Amino acid sequence: LTPVDWARVRGDFPLLARQVHGKPLVYLDSANTSQKPAQVIEAVDDFYRRHNANVSRAVHALGSEATEAYEGARRKLAAFLNVRADELVLCSGTTFAINLVAYSWALPQLKAGDAILLTRMEHHANIVPWQIVAQRTGAVIKVAEIDERGDLDLDAMYAQMTPEVKLVALSHVSNVLGTVNPVREICREARRRGIVSVVDGSQAAPHRALDVAAIGCDFYAITGHKMVGPTGTGALWARREHLAAMPPFLGGGEMIREVRFEGTVYNDPPHRFEAGTPNIAGFVGLGAAVDYLSGIGMARIEAREKELLAHATEALSAVDGLRIFGEAREKAAVISFLIEGAHAHDLATLLDLEGVAVRSGHHCAHPLMHHFGVPATCRASFAFYNTHEEIDAFVAAIQKVRRLLA
Ligand code: PMP
Repeated sequence: LTPVDWARVRGDFPLLARQVHGKPLVYLDSANTSQKPAQVIEAVDDFYRRHNANVSRAVHALGSEATEAYEGARRKLAAFLNVRADELVLCSGTTFAINLVAYSWALPQLKAGDAILLTRMEHHANIVPWQIVAQRTGAVIKVAEIDERGDLDLDAMYAQMTPEVKLVALSHVSNVLGTVNPVREICREARRRGIVSVVDGSQAAPHRALDVAAIGCDFYAITGHKMVGPTGTGALWARREHLAAMPPFLGGGEMIREVRFEGTVYNDPPHRFEAGTPNIAGFVGLGAAVDYLSGIGMARIEAREKELLAHATEALSAVDGLRIFGEAREKAAVISFLIEGAHAHDLATLLDLEGVAVRSGHHCAHPLMHHFGVPATCRASFAFYNTHEEIDAFVAAIQKVRRLLA
């Protein structure tokens, strides 16, 4: 890999130059939402200044420019994920994407006596939609457990893939533990047993090169705002045979071919699942985000974040009374931690006064918090635009806060 000028990359992110509470900002909350480079901000700005119109409706020049920009973003995202563009449904994010699978695929398919297999480390967005499906169909939820390091117990998980299991839904990368799950192997085991697999790629897409086709899942969900794109953008990739068989989730404009009061003919996928005016400018921004990430190269981003993670893990391990949650065999750049005797929110509040932004709370993963027997943790999450100096500043702030709380 040729080297990258990371200082120049960081310079692309205007917000990172600001101060909070009179201190230079150290932004360690990228797993929550990432910051945006000028290239993305400018793409959104340029769309509204020069090309704004609705998509797929008007024959005028602006209408076709907007449609081309929106469909161009779909093609870029499809290439980024290594999937076909006509199998990629654009939507508001992972939450929408998983709900689309739940309502359009699972609700019509599942029945009493069926089971849905989840994992202990799922985000609420990959739990609650399945509970709704279970309540409505009479299916039951089963949970694959993790070991003390935060890795899935794979043998136990495969043993849970019994004939009544019709669907397995799991995260590619845990937003709390950073665990990178072996999704390729898990989806292969599911497929062998005729189980449909749904992968939540929210925390994977921003950090590693993805080949969704090679994973072998049935559905893959991503969210744009964590991958330096605008909020309110995301996508669901689905195998075409599923998309072809799925009834629409929402009805309205764009998703139809012909409407009569006697009945409506739906549009083909993916447009069948994109009712109403989409977040056009947002997707233009997401297209720019994909260009930006590809310009650096996902392999370089992954390598950079591995270094930052190793540095932060080593430095934090030297802090007395600090406990790290999650030491998976393969881990993304996320560190959940607590300091003995201190509440997560107090820690995060005091760190904020030092300019350090970390998230505290349950991270939308109540079942995982129950597993560790804690109500909340602090989470520092890193992106390629963070620096080694920021990690040193973060650890110095932790030491200061620890003395204050002692
Ligand atoms: N799944 C995981 C693993 C996440 O980290 C998040 C975002 N915190 C989501 C799903 C939900 O994504 P969104 O809020 O963008 O729909």
